[in-house]
Amino acid sequence: MTAAVEVVAGVDIGGTTTQVVLCAADLGVIDRLGVPTPAAEGGAAMVGAALDALRRLLDRTPCRLLGVGVGAAGVVDARAGRILVASDSFRDWAGFPVTATVEEALGVPASLDNDVNAFLRGEVARGAVAGERHVLGMTLGTGVGGALWLDGALYDGPNGAAGEIGHVPGFGGLRCTCGGHGHLETLASGRSIAARYAERTGRSGARFTARGVAEAAALGDADALAVYEAAGAAVARAILVAAGLLDVTTFVIGGGVSRAWALLEPSLRRTLTAEPPVSGHPVRVLPAALGDDAVAVGAASRVRAGLDRVTRA
Ligand SMILES: [Zn+2]
Repeated sequence: MTAAVEVVAGVDIGGTTTQVVLCAADLGVIDRLGVPTPAAEGGAAMVGAALDALRRLLDRTPCRLLGVGVGAAGVVDARAGRILVASDSFRDWAGFPVTATVEEALGVPASLDNDVNAFLRGEVARGAVAGERHVLGMTLGTGVGGALWLDGALYDGPNGAAGEIGHVPGFGGLRCTCGGHGHLETLASGRSIAARYAERTGRSGARFTARGVAEAAALGDADALAVYEAAGAAVARAILVAAGLLDVTTFVIGGGVSRAWALLEPSLRRTLTAEPPVSGHPVRVLPAALGDDAVAVGAASRVRAGLDRVTRA
C-alpha cells in the first residue's frame, strides 16, 4: 500500500464563483473545481457550497487533506477566522465564523484571508513574482484592491488595511465608491472603466462592462482606448508613489481588468519611464500569472505555512 499524497486545499469565495483547489506540498495545483457562490443564501450556504466542492475533489483525487485555506472578499479578521464587513451582495456574511465552520466540518486546521492578500500570497508562492521578498500586489477588479509583501511576509498593518492603494487620493476629482474623491479606483477599476467610457461617449444610460470597452478598444474605438490609457497611467502613478514610499520595485497586477494587459501596458510603461523612482532602481511590473487560481493558491499557501510552523516547533 502506498501512502496517500498529502494536500492542502485553497478556497476562493468570490461574489459569483467559488474556486476550490487541491495543492501538493510545493503548492502546485493537483485538481480544481469552480462552483457558483450562493451569496444571497447566507454564510452557512456559501461555506457549505465550498465544502461540497472540496468533498467532490477529495472523492476523485486519492489524498490526505492536511488543512484548508480560505480567501474571501471583504474585511476579514484573519486571527479570529471571521468575516468582519461584507458587501451588500453577500447575505449574512459579516460575522460568519469561517474557519471554525470549516474546521468542525473537516477536522483539519483552517485559515482565513482577505482575497487581495490571498491573491498576493498566491503570486508570491507560485506565480509571476515567485520567491520575491518585497512586492506590492494590485487587483483591478470590480474595485481596486492592494496588498503588501515586505521582507518575505504579508504586511497588513495595525488595522489590517495596509496596501489599500485603490483608495489613495491624487487621481483627479471623481467620486469613489467608498465616498472619497479622486481615488485610483475611479480610473482603474472595472466599474470605473465602464463608467468613464459611458461618460466620454455621452451614453450614461447604457450598461457597459470593462470587457466590452476592451473589445471596442481592440477594434480601434478612440474613446475606449483613451479610457484604458488613463487607467494604465493611473496605475503607473500609484506604482511610483508606492515605490517612492516603500522602496518596493516589484509589482504584480491581477483582477479581471488586467486581462486587457495589452491595453494598459503602453501608457503604464510610458508613465514609468517619464518619472522613474528617485531610488534609481528600475521598477518591474508584471501581470498576474495564476489567473482564477491565485486567491485559492494563496489561501492554501497560508494554511500550509501554518502547518510547517507546527511541524518545526
Ligand atoms: Zn475610494
